[in-house]
Amino acid sequence: MQFIDLKTQQDRIREKIELNINNVLDHGKYIMGPEIKELESTLAKYCGVKHAIGVASGTDALLIPLMAYDIGPGDAVFTTPFTFIATAEVIQLLGGTPVFADIDPETFNIDIEKLEEAIIKTKQEGKLTPKGILPVDLFGQAADYDKINKIAKKYDLFVIEDAAQSFGATYNGKRACSLTDVASTSFFPAKPLGAYGDGGMIFTNDDDLYQKILSIRVHGSGSDKYNNIRVGLNGRLDTIQAAVLLAKFEIFDEEIKLRQMVAKRYNEELKDIVKVPVVESHNISAWAQYAMLHPDRDKIIEKLKEAGIPVAIYYPIPLHLQEAFTSLGLNKGDFPISEKCASEIFSIPFHPYLTRDDQDKVIDAIKSSV
Ligand SMILES: *Cc1c(COP(=O)(O)O)cnc(C)c1O
Repeated sequence: MQFIDLKTQQDRIREKIELNINNVLDHGKYIMGPEIKELESTLAKYCGVKHAIGVASGTDALLIPLMAYDIGPGDAVFTTPFTFIATAEVIQLLGGTPVFADIDPETFNIDIEKLEEAIIKTKQEGKLTPKGILPVDLFGQAADYDKINKIAKKYDLFVIEDAAQSFGATYNGKRACSLTDVASTSFFPAKPLGAYGDGGMIFTNDDDLYQKILSIRVHGSGSDKYNNIRVGLNGRLDTIQAAVLLAKFEIFDEEIKLRQMVAKRYNEELKDIVKVPVVESHNISAWAQYAMLHPDRDKIIEKLKEAGIPVAIYYPIPLHLQEAFTSLGLNKGDFPISEKCASEIFSIPFHPYLTRDDQDKVIDAIKSSV
């Protein structure tokens, strides 16, 4: 059994993938070929957003908007410590300061009250200037953007949605990547919509921001390629990855539906044994991961491994306790909910093609362990 099975998906659409890749080999436009624009307009339409910009990774999809907002030393960007390193890394990389707010223990997403407390505290201290909020849609479920956007407005902050795990999710009927000033997703192979290499996309309705992002994506270019108007980077998406993604997108909606069925079965079978994930009634999750909590996690993991079932822990160490962020001067106990989740969480095999048989194996192994 695989944790995420990409082979079954490939078997379904291999012909279309080969056709799309062969087209790229034929036209030879490896950099910014026509597939890029096609993918951008397809996904912009899917999300209900005006502009989409293909980039080299989910990390670049976060970095580039922060550059467009001129984040640098002295700036505070509020985010969660219970996420993948990239979320806070990009803030720090630009010289800005990630200011963490603890998570809601039910959804694992940023706690709205603690977010506002962190903003107020930062303003009172007066050392950093609050600039933006970077919430994460952890494991595929959108954060609470109605409330987040309200807070952003109150304190005059931008909001960047880290939708690396939530492409395909909805919040109050609106798609992830359409919920804030700007959104970032990732096409890392294991994400809900994954390429065969690195890739990402940025979404925004803001025309000015769009122009800036386009420029930063290609070395800060101006109207002339060799007259650069700002410092940027090489953040382009590969044409071949766009070609692969176009083939995969054709079955993406169906896969999101299949994910709901697997999650429903896991929920029903496991709810009396572990703390199963909670999806709020206004949300549909993209189910990037199926993560649950149990105080005796290690015992369950051992049983699963004995049965040959792969397990993963997202995330074993919250960001404030990682060496990369020692300069922030944070300590154990600063974000107790994140720390508790990190010590109790684990994820089991999950993908749209997980058979009933494999689901049973996982469920039985967990049932027999506690
Ligand atoms: C995967 C991920 C990223 C980074 O995406 P890459 O494509 O790997 O650079 C950023 N944020 C979150 C929450 C992620 O899960």
